[in-house]
Amino acid sequence: MASTATFEHNQAAIVGYRANIAERGIKNIINGEHRDAISGKTYETTSPIDNSVIATVAEGNAQDVDAAAQAAWDAFPAWAAMPAKQRRDLLYRVADLIEENAEELSLLESLDTGQPIRFMAKAAIRGAANFRYFADLVQGANDGQALPTNTHLNYTIRQPIGPVGVITPWNTPFMLSTWKIAPALAAGCTVVHKPAELSPVTAMRLHEIMAEAGMPAGVVNLVHGYGETAGKALTEHEHIKAIAFVGETTTGSHIMRQGAATLKRVHFELGGKNPVIVFADADLDRALDAAIFMKYSLNGERCTSSSRLLVERSVYDDFMDRMAQRVANIKVGNPLDPATEVGPLIHQVHYDKVSSYVTVGQEDGATLMVGDGKHPAGLEEGCYITPTLFKDANKEMRLAQEEVFGPFLTAFAFDGEDDAIEIANSTRYGLTAYIWTKDVTRALNMAHKVEAGMVWVNSQNVRHLPAPFGGVKYSGIGRDGGDYSFDFYMETKLVSIALGDHPISRLGAA
Ligand code: NAD
Repeated sequence: MASTATFEHNQAAIVGYRANIAERGIKNIINGEHRDAISGKTYETTSPIDNSVIATVAEGNAQDVDAAAQAAWDAFPAWAAMPAKQRRDLLYRVADLIEENAEELSLLESLDTGQPIRFMAKAAIRGAANFRYFADLVQGANDGQALPTNTHLNYTIRQPIGPVGVITPWNTPFMLSTWKIAPALAAGCTVVHKPAELSPVTAMRLHEIMAEAGMPAGVVNLVHGYGETAGKALTEHEHIKAIAFVGETTTGSHIMRQGAATLKRVHFELGGKNPVIVFADADLDRALDAAIFMKYSLNGERCTSSSRLLVERSVYDDFMDRMAQRVANIKVGNPLDPATEVGPLIHQVHYDKVSSYVTVGQEDGATLMVGDGKHPAGLEEGCYITPTLFKDANKEMRLAQEEVFGPFLTAFAFDGEDDAIEIANSTRYGLTAYIWTKDVTRALNMAHKVEAGMVWVNSQNVRHLPAPFGGVKYSGIGRDGGDYSFDFYMETKLVSIALGDHPISRLGAA
């Protein structure tokens, strides 16, 4: 397993995996076939480790999306009608194959995104868990309710909505793709997947694994390309009944507009600016560990990251000093090294954005404790950035309002529960919140008042697959997880059967 393997092992192992991808090129996979883009266009995907080219990628556009949507449309009736047990076993097989290929998938994911291998090894395994979890639900997916009255037997069934589009971002692309594709397939939908242009590598391997598992041609299709072309075409396509999207809030609004003409059902998992609220009575050691983990793991490129730290004033100075020591000590390095805690950011453009917030924070008047928005010494090549910590922010500042999406934390002092809630709720986002206190009544009050789709008390984000996942306000629409996913990928149909001769108004009979 890559998580326990040494850096030397990972560096040696990636050579073969990388050469294989480079030689074959990254293709679209439509109706079971690897295809170049119809236009013949390609672009290059690079590694943020050193900006070297990993492979050329088929640059799909509306024509490729049309072919993929047609394939998904044609495959839909047979896939929806496949006996549940057969569909379940196929999804189990995908999970098994992901596990068998976990080392390759996790190393390629680190290479393509810069995410540290210590986290990516688990992401591959979580991808398998997503398939296995939703495979277990296949046999009950169509179940409904019985709602009888004296005159009618009303009952509901659920049926797959049809071919769906899945559009994924670059931060943890493999895990997020499985998180969307597995429930869609379990529900009986067929899929066209448009992965982020910056992280196409493991998407191709995932689709190859699904084919190897025996997925019928056309059930799940892959089109690479840019959001403004391939992504847009997918959201506008007549055959695509719903769009499951994970990405930025502004992209979510574009998709809603683009899908309006064809009345797309949409599910959005968008940005966040999540508060972690630490009261003086909390277990401060654990709160510190969790706050650091939730902001600086996954390069801070994490929608649920605790990017705003709110600490009660009586313990603020001490807590911040301890935090600064730890943040300054975070090991930035090559993502293939298991010792690395923060790897390079996804791309130079994103690096420049994250880096610019150091100036923004200073101009706003916050206090810079750690970081300079520059490369750490010895890591001048690639997209490596020093982790940043600001304190003494107030809620009007840009670094208190805008999603930076990097290893960048903004801290505030607060005075009491009302002040904490006012700061916590002062952004347009509402994905997660984290509350640290030993006072149960306070914890419950805070959990109910904070504007977030998910709240953890005395805990970092610990995911439970049946539990609802999603945001409020500008952080999202809809919930994923367990049966919540089926509510999105399926239609509920009512069947009502008269039990006898109930009254029928006899218009025109008199
Ligand atoms: P992004 O919105 O730039 O891109 C996401 C995907 O949308 C890509 O595949 C892109 O090609 C596509 N896209 C772009 N424009 C499009 C358009 N007009 N029509 C259709 N598709 C289009 O996001 P990103 O930069 O890749 O990812 C980072 C963002 O994702 C952050 O804001 C982060 O918070 C969010 N995110 C949210 C969650 C969550 O669960 N809420 C999880 C992970 C990431």
